[in-house]
Amino acid sequence: MKPELTPILKGLYNCKAYTARAEAISPVGSSGPAKTNWIMAVGRNPGKNEDEECRPFIGKSGQFLDRYLLECGLSRNDVYVTNTIKCYTKFNREPDILEIKTCVQQWLSREIIYLQPKLIFILGADAFRGVFKYNISPWTKNTGFVRDLRKEYGFRAVILPHPSAVISHNPNLKVKYDDTVKDVRAIIEEMRKEC
Ligand code: URA
Repeated sequence: MKPELTPILKGLYNCKAYTARAEAISPVGSSGPAKTNWIMAVGRNPGKNEDEECRPFIGKSGQFLDRYLLECGLSRNDVYVTNTIKCYTKFNREPDILEIKTCVQQWLSREIIYLQPKLIFILGADAFRGVFKYNISPWTKNTGFVRDLRKEYGFRAVILPHPSAVISHNPNLKVKYDDTVKDVRAIIEEMRKEC
């Protein structure tokens, strides 16, 4: 059975906007609390496991994310976890920019506007595109850093490689995650005090 959607994603299961819709069993929604002014993590798009279970980040990438969040002092249930693109793409093919734009306009932009997150974990280049309106240029030099973008965007961003890039392609990229833990822990502590 498909999980109930948060009100922000109402209508997602009937969405026909994205051309990859035909490749997936169903669009996949978010997990975690849809709490405003809090914490969000944004991935690329669901993999096969996520498509079958209709839940984001439940496979190997999800386990990797969970471990990292724990290191940062967060449980998975503390974080609103969502994707730039809500549908699985066959053989995990890279979505093209038009597909990203279509899906982001329909869903991710609205999630960000509604939730007004104070901290966003940006998991990979496509999530970066989604959050920053398709502008990839500052991506590489910021990976592995926590950036304070409160003046420009209203949130701090933790810019990370996609978990599957670390798991399947280059384990050395894990250091980009490790490098952020201390700063993220300090931010979370500060946010908890403000609550
Ligand atoms: N990778 C993603 O980017 N999202 C998921 O939901 C699962 C794997």
